Amino acid sequence: MHTFSETARPVALITGGSRGIGQAICVALAAAGYSIAYCYNTERAGSHATHQMLEEMGVPAFAMQCNVSDADACEHFFKSALTHFGRVDALVNNAGITRDAPLLAMSNDAWSAVLDTNLTSVFNLSRLAAFHFIKRKAGAIVNISSIAGVFGNATQTNYSAAKAGMIGFTRALAKEIAPYGVRVNAVAPGFIESDMTAALSEKAAADANRRIPLGRFGTAPEVAAMVRFLVSDEGSYITGQVFQVDGGLVI
Ligand code: NDP
Repeated sequence: MHTFSETARPVALITGGSRGIGQAICVALAAAGYSIAYCYNTERAGSHATHQMLEEMGVPAFAMQCNVSDADACEHFFKSALTHFGRVDALVNNAGITRDAPLLAMSNDAWSAVLDTNLTSVFNLSRLAAFHFIKRKAGAIVNISSIAGVFGNATQTNYSAAKAGMIGFTRALAKEIAPYGVRVNAVAPGFIESDMTAALSEKAAADANRRIPLGRFGTAPEVAAMVRFLVSDEGSYITGQVFQVDGGLVI
């Protein structure tokens, strides 16, 4: 666990903040005035790069290992962040994995790991946050889905199902807790430069580029900018929506 100074700034809790899009969301929300609580799953080289960035920005930060597919671990993470900062104002469910395979070759484990990490995690943490937000009559949740959940991708039945599930979850919860002043939205990125897309073959990446009207992969800060808007007061009349950040891939 790594901590530094506490303040009364609003607090954003971000899952999977150690790398990629989650790291960019941590930095963007920090620049927008939030204190940051984030988790990661595996201690590895670079796990704490986000913490160093936030420290350099002079932003209060709190980080801990938490496997988001584990409900008890999520409760420990949420309560630890709440104890540390005294408040949570925004939750960004970003942590995600892929385990691609054609359906006929997909293992039970690949199915469960992807559903648990991408979708059950959203249930785990949103339930904790919603309880807190409803009591305060304020708060915002943003779920990082994918265009794979909007239109489906061959060899990604597990991932597409999980990401589509996140969209259904977003819409249902938005209706349920809007009367308490709590907003829930989803962002569906297209191809974004990160470790996840670095795993694509050269041919798959070139094929993807050809299909993207803007002609390039997006960057993590371009996704983070949408998240920052949605959690802020500028997004105060927006709930239950899915925003594609995909260079026009799915129009
Ligand atoms: P990366 O693989 O670069 O990073 C994934 C992050 O999630 C890491 O911080 C990782 O932590 C964390 N994580 C993974 N599993 C768990 C777990 N069980 N518990 C806690 N944290 C976990 O992914 P991206 O940044 O590319 O993706 C972020 C989100 O955006 C994902 O939900 C992904 O599905 C979605 N997305 C990405 C797209 C892309 O093109 N990159 C496109 C559409 C959607 P650790 O470092 O410990 O492994």
